[in-house]
Amino acid sequence: MCGIIGIVSGEPVADRLVDGLKRMEYRGYDSAGICTLNEGSLIRRRAEGKLANLVQVLASEPAPGNVGIAHTRWATHGHPNEPNAHPHFSCDRRISLVHNGIIENFTQLKKELRGHKFSSDTDTEVMVHLIEKYYKAEKGQHPLRAVSRAMEKIQGSFGIVVLFSDFPDLLIAARRNSPLVLGVGKGENF
Ligand code: GLU
Repeated sequence: MCGIIGIVSGEPVADRLVDGLKRMEYRGYDSAGICTLNEGSLIRRRAEGKLANLVQVLASEPAPGNVGIAHTRWATHGHPNEPNAHPHFSCDRRISLVHNGIIENFTQLKKELRGHKFSSDTDTEVMVHLIEKYYKAEKGQHPLRAVSRAMEKIQGSFGIVVLFSDFPDLLIAARRNSPLVLGVGKGENF
């Protein structure tokens, strides 16, 4: 069982995201990753194996930014390697997503996403491409609408957190048959 976490803050989040992952380490995992938003670009760092490996990557290639998402993965579809580690990106790398659970109809959805280039063997990646498809289909819409439309198409259980590079103060979370907790930090100012 994996762990997902997201933070929107007025201060850098990378250390706190990793701390959150550490607290969920007991659940078991095979790889880990984080994605932050900095000056309009999504920055992703991932590593196979223990969190210490991700910490090492972050030491040489930091992930600045006051909003971010993170994940420890327990592989169900695709090998436990770096390309399959979350977060996953949309084709244009402007949407990033972490997921806990299983997407049962991912093979069918993948077939329908013609023109989308996939870079992992996971069931998860189909979700971020589906969100991208709906987001681009209607100009000027709020991203929540694209996420809701994608969730309607998905069969299975999930907890997700989605980060859009166009929306620096926003994280969208959704769940179905999986637990998800929202919290407001004391003294957070953003
Ligand atoms: N099914 C997804 C994968 O294999 C998520 C697994 C998990 O919950 O960590 O990447």
